[in-house]
Amino acid sequence: EAIKPVKSDYKIASDSLFAPFEFQNSNKKYVGIDVDLLNAITKTQKFNVTMNFVGFQTAVDQTQAGQADGMIAGMSITDERRKVFDFSDPYFTANATIAVKDTTKDITSYKDLKGKTIGVKNGTASQEFIEKNKEKYGYKIKVFDAADTMYESLNTGSIHAFMDDEPVVKYAILQGKKFATPIEPEKIGEYGFAVKKGENPELIAMFNVGLAKLKTNGDYDKIVAKYMGDTD
Ligand code: GLN
Repeated sequence: EAIKPVKSDYKIASDSLFAPFEFQNSNKKYVGIDVDLLNAITKTQKFNVTMNFVGFQTAVDQTQAGQADGMIAGMSITDERRKVFDFSDPYFTANATIAVKDTTKDITSYKDLKGKTIGVKNGTASQEFIEKNKEKYGYKIKVFDAADTMYESLNTGSIHAFMDDEPVVKYAILQGKKFATPIEPEKIGEYGFAVKKGENPELIAMFNVGLAKLKTNGDYDKIVAKYMGDTD
C-alpha cells in the first residue's frame, strides 16, 4: 500500500534565503530545516527531488506554471493560497513580526509606523498583511525580492522596519543582527509543502506519510533542534 512516485525526479522550488529553513552554509551548500526535512522524507518514502532555490515569489510562480512540481519555502498555509495550491499537513508553526533596529525606540505599536517605510518580501504573507493595513496605519511600503537586501536596507536606514516570519527574525538576531521585535506578532498560518492545486497528488501523500514517520521516530525534532537548538 506504499504510495509510488509517478516521476523519477521531482523539481522542488524554494526560497533563496530564509534561514534557518533554507540558506547557504559557509561552503555555499544549501541547508536548513526545509532542506533536511524534505531530504529525510524522500529517503523514507523512496522518491527523488531536485531542489532549486529561486526565491519565494519565483517559487510560487514556477509551481503555478508547472515548471516546478512543488515547493517548500517556509510557506504559510493561507485561505487565499488554498485556492490555487494543495498543501501537505502542517510541519511548523510561525507568526510574522515587525522588526526594527535595536536602537529604534519610537516604534512600539503599529500606530508608530505612521509616515515610516516598511519593508516586506515579495509574495509573502507579511506583504499581504502590510498591504491590507496600509491605509489604517499610514505607512509606506518597500517590496524586496530577498531577505538580505531587506535586512541591509534596515541597517542603512532606507526602511524603518520590516515584517518577516518570527523564527527567521529570531534566528537573524541570534546570528548577530542588531534587530528588535517591539510589536506583538501576527498569526499567518502554519507552514506546508505545496503543489499546484490538483497536480502531483502523490507528492503530497508521500510528504505526509514521511512527515508522520519523522515525527514518530524523533528525526523531525532532531532536524529542528539542529538549526534552532532550544531557542524556539
Ligand atoms: N511564511 C511566509 C509566507 O508564506 C514567508 C515565507 C518566505 O518568505 N519564504 O508568506
